[in-house]
Amino acid sequence: MAQALVLNFMDGRKIDSVLAAPFKTKSNVVEVYLPEKPDSRQVFPFQDLCAIFIKGTPDLSKYQTTEGLEEIETVPGERYRVHMVNMSGDEGFFGIPGQKDSPYKMIFFISAGVKKRLRLNSLGEIILEKGFASEDQVDECLAEQGKLRGKRIGDILSEDACMNHSAVDSAISKARKEIGHGRNIRVGDILISAGIVTKEQVEAALASQESGRKKRIGALLIDKGYITEEQLLMALSAKFRMRFVDLKGVTPNQMALNVLTYEIIDRLKIFPIEADEKRIIVATSEPTDHNINEILRFNTNRAIELVASTSVQIAAAIEKYFQKPEDSMNLLLQDLDEGQITIEEENEDTSVRETDSQVIKFVNGILLEAFKQGVSDIHLEPKPGKGPLQVRYRLDGDCRIEHQIPPNFKRAIMSRIKIMANLDIAERRRPQSGKILLQSDRKKIEYRVEITPTVGGLEDAVLRILSSSKPLSLDEMGFSDRNLSEFKRIIAKPYGIVLCVGPTGSGKTTSLHSALSHLNKPDRKIWTAEDPVEITQDGLRQVQMNPKIGFSFPEALRSFLRADPDIIMIGEMRDSETAKIAIEASLTGHLVFSTLHTNSAPETVVRLIEMGMDPFNFSDAMLGVLAQRLIKRLCGKCKKAYHPEKKDLDELASAYGEKYFEEDGLSSDLENTTLMKAVGCPACDHSGFRGRTAIHELLIGTEDIKVAIKKSISLEALRALAIENGMRTLRMDGISKVFQGDTTIDQIYRVSL
Ligand SMILES: [Zn+2]
Repeated sequence: MAQALVLNFMDGRKIDSVLAAPFKTKSNVVEVYLPEKPDSRQVFPFQDLCAIFIKGTPDLSKYQTTEGLEEIETVPGERYRVHMVNMSGDEGFFGIPGQKDSPYKMIFFISAGVKKRLRLNSLGEIILEKGFASEDQVDECLAEQGKLRGKRIGDILSEDACMNHSAVDSAISKARKEIGHGRNIRVGDILISAGIVTKEQVEAALASQESGRKKRIGALLIDKGYITEEQLLMALSAKFRMRFVDLKGVTPNQMALNVLTYEIIDRLKIFPIEADEKRIIVATSEPTDHNINEILRFNTNRAIELVASTSVQIAAAIEKYFQKPEDSMNLLLQDLDEGQITIEEENEDTSVRETDSQVIKFVNGILLEAFKQGVSDIHLEPKPGKGPLQVRYRLDGDCRIEHQIPPNFKRAIMSRIKIMANLDIAERRRPQSGKILLQSDRKKIEYRVEITPTVGGLEDAVLRILSSSKPLSLDEMGFSDRNLSEFKRIIAKPYGIVLCVGPTGSGKTTSLHSALSHLNKPDRKIWTAEDPVEITQDGLRQVQMNPKIGFSFPEALRSFLRADPDIIMIGEMRDSETAKIAIEASLTGHLVFSTLHTNSAPETVVRLIEMGMDPFNFSDAMLGVLAQRLIKRLCGKCKKAYHPEKKDLDELASAYGEKYFEEDGLSSDLENTTLMKAVGCPACDHSGFRGRTAIHELLIGTEDIKVAIKKSISLEALRALAIENGMRTLRMDGISKVFQGDTTIDQIYRVSL
């Protein structure tokens, strides 16, 4: 028989219906027949509903429920007491009605239609359950709370005003006799008229009585030092079924920052974490304040999810992301000592034009601050109209907002950057590129500047900080044992081509420089053509490309070939002309290194053939192709070991490939496997990750592989053959690094295909 339902809409309407298709919460819709149209199937999206009642008799024994009853209040304002069923998702959750005679066996509450959830266990019970305090401590505070609630004004006055208890009592009974027992007269008034206390003392006592009555169990436990404020907040968030969020590891999305005004954020002491068109997640340190939800719903017209965070973290986050623009600038100016920086003039004839000294100091401050923090790119993004100039830094692969500069500085700061980079400050309609050289504490820092016109007659500037640091040694590159020894073996060959591939920002150039540094000896001539030269090494002859005058990779390559090279590095094989000359060079007795924007090692081979390379030439030349990605490394100070569940290990095994998982010795002793997870500590800015490491995929040009390339084998077949020959894919290499405790599986899935 078809399942009867009652649909409860956001506007409070309830409509009888019959289920028309299996109910799948993930589909975000319910399909039903309505009584008046029994033949036509109706589809209702969850966003119009707050709850779906499933008719029948409640039976707790059939389902696994979490302990205790919960009270659910829907958006239309109705409340239900239910046992929560352990099968909830983001879309909503199931509850079994608390009353046995309920006409519903279950209720599905839609997340966006729920105004609030409350566990009916007392806060004391939850604090015990979490193990924050002992039973004795909770009992002690409950007893004290009882005493506070029962406290009379006379008691408080005799304590606070340091009066004799019996003097107060006798004054009261004397007055009662005079006035008569039936009359309603206040104790405070009696004592004032008896001249025992002042009006102010009575008012203070009344206030203290009021606050004593309101004193909650949590505050008492904190007063006595039994629990911390954070633990109370965790218990409260459990009671109100909120997530507890550590804001230090959180970066809000742009919409979250735009949806609410600073005025509301400051008034409610809340912090918006994430928002889209329909919903917003907001952190509060006051889970008991139910007005917040109402106010936010009214102001944003979105479904609200409140999460709990400590007041300290919320205040810090507000300051960081909503600071008044002026504050940001002043802070940075304070940090900067006078005369710390000089600009290196590339062309003698360009004199630095006079501008506001505050602007000069500020721009210098940003450049230096970003360099010191190890940032890779600085983004200057002026918002239209009266919007501020937003400054974001990219660190370890992610951007984050660092400063908001007042709008009246927009033009001056952009002009200043253009002046420093020798660009035309009058040109605001076309992109311009240049570079800035700074000298600070004897260190030379180079910034590659890209100015791009944006809507509203504005311009964005992005500054890449080129590290003038030494290249890593091959042993520090995070290679697996096999990859390290094979890579060293192939680059020791006298001629042939070695390619390093991956998307922008995958560390290709760093790897090639490490290889060059390994080979950099006085008996070898090494030429490099780069755009830009990011890493410099003594001994290498490095050449910067200059597309403005048509000096490009092919021209540099031809020049190198006439200039007696042993080893040649070409920054990037951007076109087939460059690729062809590079392969020719490697076949005529030179060792050639280059990079390519391909995703995997086998794909690189297929791509080059598609670009028109001769399969015979290329297979003869190819020593190896190294694909790589950068991943975040777990913070060594706080990472924590844990035993993964069987299903997680099975998942890892199948992602690795069951056969090789066993062959590579990862499957042995599953019971004793420990992996590492992110925790967060001051050393890693509470993100749980610190710095990066690489994962690799090294395809070696073995005889098998060369024969296969000559036969123009398919990509899939080439990959399979390579794995048989010992290559491990990016994902496989990443999974081994998860087993070594260097990173987490999420990091691998984020970057590998
Ligand atoms: Zn840490």
